[in-house]
Amino acid sequence: MSIESKQTVLVVDDEPLNIKVLSQALSPWYRVKAATNGQDALKIASSDDPPDLILLDVAMPGMSGYQVCDQLKSNHVTRNIPVIFITARNSNEDEAYGLELGAVDYITKPFSLPIVMARIRNQLLLKIKTDMLEQLVSIDSLTELANRRRFDEVLDQEWRRCVRNGTPLSIIMIDVDFFKLLNDSYGHAAGDVCLKQIAQTLKSTTRRSSDTVARYGGEEFCAILPGIAHKDALQLAENMRHNVEQQQIPHPKSPLGPAVSISLGVATATPDISTLPTGLLSQADEMLYQAKTSGRNQVKGVDLTQNGSA
Ligand code: GH3
Ligand code: MG
Ligand code: MG
Repeated sequence: MSIESKQTVLVVDDEPLNIKVLSQALSPWYRVKAATNGQDALKIASSDDPPDLILLDVAMPGMSGYQVCDQLKSNHVTRNIPVIFITARNSNEDEAYGLELGAVDYITKPFSLPIVMARIRNQLLLKIKTDMLEQLVSIDSLTELANRRRFDEVLDQEWRRCVRNGTPLSIIMIDVDFFKLLNDSYGHAAGDVCLKQIAQTLKSTTRRSSDTVARYGGEEFCAILPGIAHKDALQLAENMRHNVEQQQIPHPKSPLGPAVSISLGVATATPDISTLPTGLLSQADEMLYQAKTSGRNQVKGVDLTQNGSA
């Protein structure tokens, strides 16, 4: 979430009048979404556009608010969305139970609107800080690409999404050619500048917002491309190779010089529920190895979508 954009509050209550009261108070400051039952609330919470805060009624027909909260907290996709119970159940036991389920606050009806608004604002300010921290631990400080931790998360998410949609997923493994030689010749600082420039070039070569380019390790990068055919992934890899070459980053000592080049391995599979993305990763790694042994500065790929698994 960018700080400029409005934060989103999801109001969950089976009584439309309650939703109306809160929506009216919140909508000048926040985007408001509403659900009148637990199932719809869970769907909105795990969507691509999740809320920053959930105001949750406890007593609802079907799933109770407690059950909804429990499910939100046990799913890693929705775990970090703060929940505030707003309920007529005002016993200490109820409140303790709600907080134990992982809610950040518990407000009893009838409530004072100014107090509720202040508590909501406090939680949303905290959410901005949590999101910023989350961003910081996900980014590689040298290249500003997604780091390995984020890479693993995204791959896991995209793999599952492709299982659900029955669409293919491609991985491009990228390694700088003769990079040790560049470091040894011009120093580590020059190596760092080179890595930054390559990172920028790789990133700007991808066009879709669903594509992720990460720093996988020292001078290795990896791209996750959900939902495109193998030939398109190969083309993107070739564009990456070409664009890095065009940068003409000096490397006269390289046997392929005078400019820095990269080697790339591409693997495409149709993810299914019984396989893990690690198989696809090692296939992309194998293709990268082939690109290296075939002379570097080239792309090698394997299409595993024919037999449907990695
Ligand atoms: P190849 O073409 O086979 O890939 O050869 P290479 O020299 O690129 O491969 P090798 O794996 O031998 O060397 C990788 C080098 O990358 C070694 C390491 O010092 C350097 N390296 C790793 N991380 C960083 C970094 O953050 N900054 C800099 N400057 N160098 C790094
Ligand atoms: Mg290398
Ligand atoms: Mg390497």
